[in-house]
Amino acid sequence: MSPHAELVSRLRAAWLSGKTRPMEYRLAQLEALGRFLDEKKQDILEATAADMRKPPFEVEVSELSICRSELNHTLNNLGAWMKDKHVEKNWATQLDSAFIRKDPYGVVLIIGPWNYPINLLLVPLIGAIAAGNCVVMKPSEITRNVERLVAETLPRYLDEDCFAVVTAGVEETTRLLENKFDYIFFTGSPSVGRIVMTAAAKHLTPVTLELGGKNPCYVSDSCNVQNVARRVAWGRFFNAGQTCVAPDYVLCSVEMQEKLLPALREAITEFYSPNPRESPDFGRIVGDRQFQRVQALLHSGHTAIGGQTDAGERYIAPTVLVEVQQDDPVMQEEIFGPILPILTVASVDDAIAFINARERPLVLYVFSSRKEVVKRVLERTSSGGFCANDTIMHMTIPSLPFGGIGQSGLGRYHGRSSFETFSHQRSALLRGAGRETLNTPRYPPYAPHRLPLLRAATETKRRATCLLL
Ligand code: NAD
Repeated sequence: MSPHAELVSRLRAAWLSGKTRPMEYRLAQLEALGRFLDEKKQDILEATAADMRKPPFEVEVSELSICRSELNHTLNNLGAWMKDKHVEKNWATQLDSAFIRKDPYGVVLIIGPWNYPINLLLVPLIGAIAAGNCVVMKPSEITRNVERLVAETLPRYLDEDCFAVVTAGVEETTRLLENKFDYIFFTGSPSVGRIVMTAAAKHLTPVTLELGGKNPCYVSDSCNVQNVARRVAWGRFFNAGQTCVAPDYVLCSVEMQEKLLPALREAITEFYSPNPRESPDFGRIVGDRQFQRVQALLHSGHTAIGGQTDAGERYIAPTVLVEVQQDDPVMQEEIFGPILPILTVASVDDAIAFINARERPLVLYVFSSRKEVVKRVLERTSSGGFCANDTIMHMTIPSLPFGGIGQSGLGRYHGRSSFETFSHQRSALLRGAGRETLNTPRYPPYAPHRLPLLRAATETKRRATCLLL
């Protein structure tokens, strides 16, 4: 028997009791989560600093503020989201009630990664609570200090009958996944995503997979180079490059590369001083294994900016690589570190062909002051999300669904999309018990002359189109 079977059945019993269903209960749990964020803010800042020297400003922006914004958006809208959605009816059901009820799934498992260990655990949790589920959370074991903080303190704020934190490494998570959950929400790498989906398939459990990949960033010839450099450098070097939506590589013309390099150098110096190692605003790689992997990617192409490393501190300087070839190691995997390769293309169509020849990314970035260039890339490519003339900022809008496509993931969340992800759209038809003569045409013995009446009562007709309008 799986070591967590008892926990899962305890949570399922609580869910079946119906206690998570009332809106007041959900609101109270969400408010309690807000208190956790407020009261444990200092502990969160310390734990993230201890794990990866995350700059406090970055923790405020990318962990606390995003969670707070998601929480407020949910608290502001939950009443409207929970309402039954009444739907159009056919003639046969005109006197009845047909609607979609947003039903909780039951017991949900949320598995989080280490790069934004609070945000990527709590933002899905907000959606799961809002939708009326019980939740098992499994934070990443790599960010040990945050894992300990969450395991020791979060359950004290929430209803322990319905919400639990499990600390587990790979082996124990494998055992945890043997249990039957009603929904699994996973954020992490595509390879582990496959393992999670395989485990879920055994129980036919639906999944959301928020995965990673290589996000292209096309910089057209018509743009404000200084602004582009600052926005790209910010997105790439935030959290020392360990961001799923970071621009992974730049595609631009040879001429643009020549202008972009000095602008990137200037932006990096402006952000992190001439020696980024001394900057309090530049983080570190999370662990030794990850450091070795990212460091090995520095050998691709030619180092134009940065390139310095210190294994003892797990420091890798903000780095820009040029003369990178498509088959270089840095172009074979998600970089997930402070390295920005630039590859040159001849035109926007070349960039589009380059992007379309690869796995579909989590987000695609385009910089251009020409609307037709942005429009062309948007229309001719496919990606989880799209952001023109900036990086990462699309994530700050809770009403934009967030998620990947293909290799970068399956499903979406944030705001209403989170609520919908964690809700089963249960279709309901409430018919009157009488008026039986109206049902007679459909019963055997079948009478062909009744067929037109039956069809008229149940079949959806093509709407008439008016050629004048
Ligand atoms: P990971 O896949 O190694 O680990 C994620 C979680 O899965 C952790 O909790 C870990 O304990 C667990 N896990 C690891 N191996 C497992 C196994 N064999 N069986 C079951 N569970 C296992 O990912 P990571 O290194 O923590 O995070 C980095 C990856 O996550 C990158 O690819 C990044 O792009 C991606 N990511 C995606 C998003 C997104 O929103 N799409 C956000 C952040 C990170």
